[in-house]
This record gives sequence, C-alpha cells and structure tokens, in this order.
Amino acid sequence: MLTESEKAQIREVLQGAKKRLARTGQDALSYSMNHERNIGRDSIDESMEEEIFSTEMRLHDREKYLFGKIDKQLARLESGAIDTCESCGEVISFKRLLARPVTTLCIDCKEQHEREEAAVEQAGRGGALDGNAGEEMGGAGATSEE
Ligand SMILES: [Zn+2]
Repeated sequence: MLTESEKAQIREVLQGAKKRLARTGQDALSYSMNHERNIGRDSIDESMEEEIFSTEMRLHDREKYLFGKIDKQLARLESGAIDTCESCGEVISFKRLLARPVTTLCIDCKEQHEREEAAVEQAGRGGALDGNAGEEMGGAGATSEE
C-alpha cells in the first residue's frame, strides 16, 4: 500500500503530465486553425497539406491514447489499486510508479511481456533453427577453404 504522501507525489506527476499534454493539444489546435485560414491561398500544394493533416491526426491519436492512460491511472490511484499489478496482483513498487507513472504492470510481468514479444518476433523471422544446426558444421574443416 502506498502512503498518502506517496499517492500525492504520483498524483502530481500524473496531473503534470496531463497538463503538458493539454498544452501540446492546444498548440496543435491553434496550428490547425491557422492552417485552415490559409486554405484558399493555394500556396501549399496538396500532398503537403495531406502530410500536415495526417501528422496532426497521428499527434491527436497519441494524445488521446496518453490521456486515456493517465485518466485510467488516476482512477486506479483514487481507488487505491494503483500499486497492484493488473496481471498478477503483486505490488508495484513506489519507485517504479514514480519512474513510470502510467504503468499498470509490475516489473516481472513487464519483463515477461517483453520477452514474449521478442519471442514472437523471432519465431516470425525464420523457422530455420531446429536446434542442431550448429552440429552439422563440426569437424569438417569448413573454415579452411584455401
Ligand atoms: Zn505482475
């Protein structure tokens, strides 16, 4: 369980992150409003406009995603569940929460998750390794071809 002061620290970090996100969002908004005012001048060619537009959308998606994560974590904080791993139910340390305030997994689950992702990636890359590929090379002097 986190103490009240630990909770307060994490709340501060999360709310600070939210404010920063909101500011970035406003910048993007005023940028796109300026952009709209420029429509009609046809000084920017279409592909450029499309590029700007899709960059804005990507930015917006990422903000929404992060906002959602922060809100979820604030709710977990208020309900007292923030230091409980979503996957295994173990305690997430205060130090870890402070370093990664939106995390919902303990370090063990996080690492396992990453290992699984790496394993999936490797399996996809090439099935040529059937375990004894190394043995075939042995003894025949394969390295001295001259
Ligand atoms: Zn866990």
